[in-house]
Amino acid sequence: MLGLMQDWPLLIHKIIDHAGREHAHRPVISRSVEGEMHFTDYGTVRERALKVAKRLEKDGIRLGDRVATLAWNTWRHLETWYGITGIGAIYHTVNPRLFEDQIVYIMNHAEDRILLLDLTFVPLMEKLQDRLPTVERFVVLTDDAHMPETKLRNAVPYETWIGEVDSDFAWHSFDENTAAGMCYTSGTTGNPKGVLYSHRSNVIHAMTAALPDMLGVTSKDRVMPVVPLFHANGWSLAFSVPMTGASLVLPGPRLDGASVHEILETQKVTCTAAVPTVWLGLLAHLDKTGGTLTTLKRVVIGGSACPRAVTERFERQFGVEVLHAWGMTETSPLGTVCSITDDYAHLEGEALLDIKMKQGRTPFGVEMVIKDDADRLLPRDGKTFGRLKVRGPAISRAYFRGEGGNPLDAEGYFDTGDVATIDEFGYMQITDRAKDVIKSGGEWISSIDLENLAVGHPDVAEAAVIGVAHPKWDERPLLIIVPKAGKEPTKEDLLAFMQGKIAKWWMPDDVVLVPDLPHTATGKIQKMALRDRFKDYRLPTA
Ligand code: AMP
Repeated sequence: MLGLMQDWPLLIHKIIDHAGREHAHRPVISRSVEGEMHFTDYGTVRERALKVAKRLEKDGIRLGDRVATLAWNTWRHLETWYGITGIGAIYHTVNPRLFEDQIVYIMNHAEDRILLLDLTFVPLMEKLQDRLPTVERFVVLTDDAHMPETKLRNAVPYETWIGEVDSDFAWHSFDENTAAGMCYTSGTTGNPKGVLYSHRSNVIHAMTAALPDMLGVTSKDRVMPVVPLFHANGWSLAFSVPMTGASLVLPGPRLDGASVHEILETQKVTCTAAVPTVWLGLLAHLDKTGGTLTTLKRVVIGGSACPRAVTERFERQFGVEVLHAWGMTETSPLGTVCSITDDYAHLEGEALLDIKMKQGRTPFGVEMVIKDDADRLLPRDGKTFGRLKVRGPAISRAYFRGEGGNPLDAEGYFDTGDVATIDEFGYMQITDRAKDVIKSGGEWISSIDLENLAVGHPDVAEAAVIGVAHPKWDERPLLIIVPKAGKEPTKEDLLAFMQGKIAKWWMPDDVVLVPDLPHTATGKIQKMALRDRFKDYRLPTA
């Protein structure tokens, strides 16, 4: 027997319809790429998204076609996502921080038909367009007055382009499992792989992301996603924020500490989100200027592990609650958020900070386990670590065009490639990437724990730990250090600093000093390159 409730497919345009109707006058504020501040509201964003949809159809875009964006967070970028998905086409966010060859690869792989790009990226695309045969037209996200001379194919300023139609348009209707968005993962090995979100996955994920123990967004908030829309589905904020009616503040291209501080204060932001690097920049700016944070209540930090000092300073010095979050492109992306439940509410000081270093708990819709190499479930004791696996309605089951084969195990869990513990109250803590973990005598050593410890030494700017071949133990840890300018810590110094803070058998077998470390386009340390460089390294213990 079927239930007798209405058939109301979970389609993305229902979010902007809701925001445009119930929160029509709530502000959407952006720093434009041209430089000025720009003020609009959800009602107008919806109207203009309808024009985008109508205009795309006029250009021949149909259900399932890919329309790429190469853009900062602004109201125009937001409108394009709703316009594209409103006719069943697919937004493909291109990450400008990828290497040029990777940009060419993913755009060809996706077969993008139109690219909507910011002024910033016109020179880059002029250079690459000959290698992008599927792109029929380049729409520059600006108005006629700011449109540069350009040789881009069929180039048109966005405002002129949408100005050719009115907003008298009805969203299309289709199955909620229809593809809506696409984002390539910047894997450290092989070519990037395309993650394909559906309308249903995005709507469900946005509802769970906004829950009180997740981001806790309400219509009273002013939320600023500093995390770019082109990174991991923009952490879903383009959907979860309008859904709640909270106002949006979009920082445009300027993500340095001073610019972020200025917009946080002038636009009275209450909640914001980005990777740790952004917050290190903001805190350094506040140190330099003696500035404060007068309206900010919550900051969501994820993408890589949040340093303890960042959490400590936000909470103790500025009274801003830190929500440490974990996720990946394949998980839409929020998998866990570290909000404090009753179980830990009694903690204070360092003990509370210890919990806040964890990546947190899953919402409804994310089933999370840790398993060993033989796929056996491991206990939730906060100590045992294993492969972190997840399943749910907003988690990938395959990559675009089947690249990389089947990523699921026999029970339908997606292997995140992370290694983690889960404690008795469900708090997960990442201890490593599976391929970076050091396997010593059949036991695992967390490279991240060792790195975090090493960067606590006053002379250390950056640290990486890799496993190096050892005749007896299989692998042993090698600590690689970039010292701070003018400092030259010795091996004995560093090891003495670490002594007693970790198990004896975790102590690195050797330490080397290097001038710098290799990084990926998204700023993560390239452990592969390091392992390659040190593959013949002979440890003194070998
Ligand atoms: P991406 O898909 O590029 O966002 O990368 C996802 C990966 O980033 C995850 O699998 C983790 O390895 C890492 N990551 C994301 N958030 C965190 C976090 N809070 N702490 C540690 N690692 C994280």
